[in-house]
Amino acid sequence: MSKSYERLAALNKSHVWHPFTQMKDYNNEDPLIIERGEGVRLYDVQGRAYYDGFSSVWLNVHGHHVPELNQAISNQLELVAHSTLLGMANIPSIELAEQLVNISPHGLNKVFYSDSGATGVEIAIKMAFQYWHNKEGRNKKSFITMGQAYHGDTIGAVSVGAIPLYHEVFRPMLFQSHVIPYPYAYRHEGGAEGAKEATITALRSLLEAQADEIAALIVEPIVQGASGIVVMPEGCLREMADLCRKHDVLFIADEVATGFGRTGEMFACDLENVTPDLMVVGKGLTGGYLPVAATLATDEIYSAFYADYREQKTFFHGHSYTGNPLGCAVALASLKLFKENNLLEGVRSKAVLTANKLAALKDRPHVGEIRQKGLMIGIELVRDKGSRESYEWEERIGVRTSQKARELGMLTRPLGNVIVFIPPLASTEAELGEMTDILAASIIQVTEG
Ligand SMILES: *Cc1c(COP(=O)(O)O)cnc(C)c1O
Repeated sequence: MSKSYERLAALNKSHVWHPFTQMKDYNNEDPLIIERGEGVRLYDVQGRAYYDGFSSVWLNVHGHHVPELNQAISNQLELVAHSTLLGMANIPSIELAEQLVNISPHGLNKVFYSDSGATGVEIAIKMAFQYWHNKEGRNKKSFITMGQAYHGDTIGAVSVGAIPLYHEVFRPMLFQSHVIPYPYAYRHEGGAEGAKEATITALRSLLEAQADEIAALIVEPIVQGASGIVVMPEGCLREMADLCRKHDVLFIADEVATGFGRTGEMFACDLENVTPDLMVVGKGLTGGYLPVAATLATDEIYSAFYADYREQKTFFHGHSYTGNPLGCAVALASLKLFKENNLLEGVRSKAVLTANKLAALKDRPHVGEIRQKGLMIGIELVRDKGSRESYEWEERIGVRTSQKARELGMLTRPLGNVIVFIPPLASTEAELGEMTDILAASIIQVTEG
């Protein structure tokens, strides 16, 4: 072990508190310390290469150290690194807003910037709440979310979150949300149809009983990410959106994970031609380079805030780095690469290739289900395939499998017993082939070895 590694590892242990990490476990092991990235690989300070098999937690799009993206940032840096959007504008945030409106579902014409998925969600929630307040002073103040939902880690986002392991401890300080079941076909006795029916029925009866006190529904469209990459049965999102519209409840799509091509369409809502009232984007917006997020709104939402100042309808919300020019510049360059490289088409064909490669895993004794939409893939491991009995959480089957993948040269991070494979969209077929080989080998070695 090199001297500089030892020094960095010791300092890391002394001073850095890592997110979503039990530090007692973490500090018992030698930390992975990344020094640089190139294409779809990351290199640690000891020079070892790893495939970025989870896009650095679902962010990266075009790979690392991409000349066009680097150039966009240095060009902007020659002009100005940051200036505020409070009462003034800057060039990249204007141009990016135009682009976002162009590629988003029809009708989303206004862009409110922030700096992370969670803040984008906070903004959507507050906008929905104040929309009803401004519009009619109505008592519409609660939210509907879905079982096992994840929308970020700030208090508002946690209030519409429903993953007990992350959220339960904070329950006393949260606002209450209505929770309808997410259609989890693999673990529903009625399969996809039964799961979908249960969701729609629950939503319908909730709306029929209480729509006049409900401001909005928030959903991770088509793919529920943090719960284990769970894919909705076809038509479910569309039906949910229609029900909300019918009952005058706003529809918020949290596209933070699914946006920017992950599912094979620019946005997951496009898969079922859904236009939300509010849409949150983050993660892949800057190609995975810088922290920029945005909340898009329809003209209808915007116009409820557009009034004489003394009517007190202003949206009093903002963040220091709202509309950061460096971040917006790299987001623009990323969107340009989507077009130049025909990336969406590429994702669709690479998704087919990846599905074929992974099909061989289906017959393994501990592979319960392989779920996939585009290049978002989750593989649920089970102790008993017939009964679908789960591994006990203490067995840490997901963690051990991901550790094995790292030994074999690929980074990923599990969600409980689900192995996540979300490669950068620009991965070549050859790279995807090698990554899926590592994935399969680590699953087989850990569950059967
Ligand atoms: C990651 C994620 C968030 C939170 O985004 P941050 O940038 O980590 O705050 C919100 N919603 C979904 C669906 C996500 O996957």
